[in-house]
Amino acid sequence: SGIGGSSNNFRRKPVIIIVVGMAGSGKTTLLHRLVNYTVLSNIRGYVMNLDPAVMTLPYGANIDIRDTVRYKEVMKQFNLGPNGGILTSVNLFATKFDEVISFIEKRADQLDYVLVDTPGQIEIFTWSASGAIITEAFASTFPTVVTYVVDTPRSENPTTFMSNMLYACGILYKTRLPLVLAFNKTDVAQHHFALEWMKDFEAFQAAISSDHSYTSTLTHSLSLVIDEFYNNLRSVGVSAVSGAGVESFFKAIEASAEEFMETY
Ligand code: GDP
Ligand code: MG
Repeated sequence: SGIGGSSNNFRRKPVIIIVVGMAGSGKTTLLHRLVNYTVLSNIRGYVMNLDPAVMTLPYGANIDIRDTVRYKEVMKQFNLGPNGGILTSVNLFATKFDEVISFIEKRADQLDYVLVDTPGQIEIFTWSASGAIITEAFASTFPTVVTYVVDTPRSENPTTFMSNMLYACGILYKTRLPLVLAFNKTDVAQHHFALEWMKDFEAFQAAISSDHSYTSTLTHSLSLVIDEFYNNLRSVGVSAVSGAGVESFFKAIEASAEEFMETY
């Protein structure tokens, strides 16, 4: 059943989609695409921007961290560099996150999804206390799914691919939330190779054997861990630019939200 088909209807709405991924993977562009899709499909969505340092956004954010914290002033006030300024801004916003949650709760029955954009540098959200606080605040109130955006053309390099998978794996086990891998930029490179590598570790090993920066023993040990990880997620290919795969993306989100409802 889709959204609203469950007996505990209240808890089903809205589904929170936290979008993470390496800088430049296309999080913001993908969010813009998803927002356009929801508007055209009569899906009721909210967008939240948690990147305090973004100059301009291609979408109109319903909740924007920049309305609450001025990142440049935080940098001056606390004598910080850009990364420290971003991190401190997210920390300041996290201290008021209960207000954000109750704001969304009041509108819960008018919303299907809340799309959440995160700072360009991934570790600011995924490995910080405030990122954990924000994620837990969402997941204790609404069904919550993490989307890990992968730059597909760059991941044709097997070392980059494995770096992404290990990062995503860490996020899966840290958050314990359903995870959707979104292989983005399929207009530039299709993600078939990635599916092949995830299905058949020997194919991946063959690809990486030419790269001496990974020792074969490490790669072999990883294969055992990473196989378990692959079994615990959903993957889709998307193009934020062309819009390809957006329907499959929402199907994967639906299935993940179902999984969330069964697990929590
Ligand atoms: P973020 O740092 O993860 O938020 O990444 P952005 O959304 O700012 O995108 C980084 C760059 O990748 C920009 O130049 C985008 O135009 C480009 N980009 C994003 N998605 C796609 C896509 O699906 N296809 C192509 N060809 N480029 C994309
Ligand atoms: Mg961005």
